[in-house]
Amino acid sequence: MPGKNLSREEAQHRAAILSVDSYRVHLDLTSAVDPTAATFRSTTTIAFRSAEAGAASFADLLAPRVRTVTLNGRDLDPAEVFDGTRVQLADLAEQNLLVVEADCAYSRTGEGLHRFVDPVDGETYLYTHFEPADSRRVFTNFEQPDLKAPFTFTVTAPAAWDVYANGVHTAVTAEGTARIWEFAPTQPIATYLTAVVAGPYHVERDHYSRALPDGSTLEIPLAATCRKSLSKHFDADEIFTVTKQGLDFFHAEFDYPYPFGKYDQCFVPEYNIGAMENPGCVTFREEFVFRSKVTEAAYEGRANVILHEMAHMWFGDLVTMKWWDDLWLKESFADFMGSYALIGAGTKYKAAWITFANRRKAWAYRQDQFPTTHPITADIRDLEDAKLNFDGITYAKGASVLKQLVAYVGAEAFFEGARTYFKQHAFGNTVLGDLLGALEQTSGRDLSSWAAAWLQTSGVNALTPQLTVDAEGRITELAVLQDGATLRPHRIAIGFYERDSDGALVRTERVELDVDGARTVVPELAGKPRPALVLLNDDDLTYCKIRFDDHSLETLREGLGEIDEPLSRALAWSAAWNLTRDGLMPTRDYLALVDRFAGPESDIGVLQSLHQQAKGALDLYSAPEHRAAGARQLAGCALRELRAAEPGSDHQLAWARFLALTADQPEQLQLVEGLLAGTAKVDGLAVDQELRWALRLSLASAGRTTPEELRTELELDNTASGRQYLTQTLAALPTPGAKATAWAAVLDSDELPNALVEAQIAGFAQPGQRELTAGYADTYFEVIESVWAQRSIEIAMRIVGGFFPRFQTDPATLAAADAWLAEHPGAAPALRRLVLECRDDLDRALRAQAVDRG
Ligand SMILES: [Zn+2]
Repeated sequence: MPGKNLSREEAQHRAAILSVDSYRVHLDLTSAVDPTAATFRSTTTIAFRSAEAGAASFADLLAPRVRTVTLNGRDLDPAEVFDGTRVQLADLAEQNLLVVEADCAYSRTGEGLHRFVDPVDGETYLYTHFEPADSRRVFTNFEQPDLKAPFTFTVTAPAAWDVYANGVHTAVTAEGTARIWEFAPTQPIATYLTAVVAGPYHVERDHYSRALPDGSTLEIPLAATCRKSLSKHFDADEIFTVTKQGLDFFHAEFDYPYPFGKYDQCFVPEYNIGAMENPGCVTFREEFVFRSKVTEAAYEGRANVILHEMAHMWFGDLVTMKWWDDLWLKESFADFMGSYALIGAGTKYKAAWITFANRRKAWAYRQDQFPTTHPITADIRDLEDAKLNFDGITYAKGASVLKQLVAYVGAEAFFEGARTYFKQHAFGNTVLGDLLGALEQTSGRDLSSWAAAWLQTSGVNALTPQLTVDAEGRITELAVLQDGATLRPHRIAIGFYERDSDGALVRTERVELDVDGARTVVPELAGKPRPALVLLNDDDLTYCKIRFDDHSLETLREGLGEIDEPLSRALAWSAAWNLTRDGLMPTRDYLALVDRFAGPESDIGVLQSLHQQAKGALDLYSAPEHRAAGARQLAGCALRELRAAEPGSDHQLAWARFLALTADQPEQLQLVEGLLAGTAKVDGLAVDQELRWALRLSLASAGRTTPEELRTELELDNTASGRQYLTQTLAALPTPGAKATAWAAVLDSDELPNALVEAQIAGFAQPGQRELTAGYADTYFEVIESVWAQRSIEIAMRIVGGFFPRFQTDPATLAAADAWLAEHPGAAPALRRLVLECRDDLDRALRAQAVDRG
């Protein structure tokens, strides 16, 4: 394998001969506060064994410089054994000791050891992020999940800093202007799970204790950290509350004491993902520290992530997948547990399964219809494959399928299986069969056909009700039709809904059954009067797209918002969205549903996803000739509902943000300007800093502001977030210069940190500026291969996905994408996958537009 990649075969071969006894890692981070210092000193000592005496292998290290390499007391010449990515190890003994002293680079891409300087106070903050394979940017190691070992970290840092790592901190000693932090050895863990967080972080502490069945007491110190300048917004109490609820819940369900000593949760800047489950030292994106008012859905989302990461302490950290093929083993499980535990642990977030049905599954359905979709158990050939598989299949579809499995074997057997699995495989590595084996043992069911149907195939089924009705309006037969490339067994509920005396659509009938094959007749519903609405997959037991019979569809058009049960209504919204995406409902009909029924939607999470979807439908799926009318409709809806919303409510805030997103008529734009200037008011609406930036973006995109005005906003908010928003709003201005500047900032240099790359790209692509950006499509296809070769994969993914000309929804762009794919059969598979997915989105948009044209 060339360069930074590592193949599955190489990893298998290395694991067959090597086993690791321990790592000692010393990092000297005192140079971090010097902006001209690009590197830090990293010294690693690895004690490991080789099954074959005399064998050759290699260690991984991505570093600009290696100073010394010592293997079993012999000094090796770095120029000979180190090529920039690997340290070659020849003539191994049975017991080996490798010492590598290197200069490793501070990162600005969020991969490895990220360095960030806070513009508010000039303080420097560091944190690591390694999954899937970036610990080798910080120390020398065998970078694969099945070579676990205990890690002992020692970190030298400026005296005013605190340092956090996986292990319990045991000693701090002063040395000149620095302090040396020592940490206890960890349990055996995988390299991608190690972590170091260092800087003058603000910290809050709490404590969790629990009586264990053996009479002892488990004590877990808790810490939560964020940057000092964010501390006034830090609601650590709320974070600790959810943390303790989760620890109670998982101990009760998993019956295995938390194995990693203490539990730190660090909120860190410019983080590429939501959070990472480093044992004892979880890292989160700091946007979870809310600077301005957010809705209950945002708090629910954060609590879900806290519980997701905590579930990983057992599923992923204690028991780890052997290779990235089984990434789903940990991610599907944790994703399911995030929602399950929100309810089970008794948190205040009761809408977890509604959010899951409506938002999380939308991610899975989308991903599962790309030509690049894959089975939940994937074929991961190398690290580039692994990087792209943190996707809607591995997380949301896998979690949906586990939800179905819980319905299939029962919650008790499922958790009993998990308990067995943890005990059998503690501190080890597993594959799919190990989990299935444990579940078969406890449930007494053969899961091989279930696994074959659900885990080893790809694609989503659609279920459609087929009714025959007699002259009196009675059902003579109701059948469920299933389509899709692979037909599967589905456990589903079918709900019948009728109008009650208040006009609400209420459930009058529910049957639960197994659907199998292309057509399943439901005899128990024969003879019943045809209801106003037949809802398949009621209660969201299975993973499928649902369709309607004509009569039910008519009911939805007239009364979707009148379904009284929030989960059923969320399913109906989700179905309407899928119909629109699939070209089975004209976009203008979908927008009409949103216009009519989003206002009364009570679930704030559903409402906010409707806002996103409606805007997406307008921008991508509206026929060009209907676009202006659709835009007027959504903007009108936003203004009307903003004025109608309860003062100070989450709904009011959501509608204000939707107004900012959709405003394109003078009436709305004037309100946006007035809210910013303080000359207009909406009763109860606080125009706080995050909302101000959303309003600024609205004006920037519409060309109703200037760079000077945008810069004055930075004076109110000269923070890291403020700088990101300024970058985004400047890039959103509808001028050739703004577009050229954003494009060049991202592509002409690799100096820009990840957060500003993201801001430039987000600002560049504005749906209302199609003509202005049309000329960039050709350039895009010219540069992506070199972007892929030259940039880190995290940044390359953002550029390739973010600069794809997705708003140029015309056959010429589709042809350009097809031509690139045809001309680049040998491009990196991960790059081709990204382009194929963008191309598929575009193709879908063109099909939806054709249907909308009517
Ligand atoms: Zn996860």
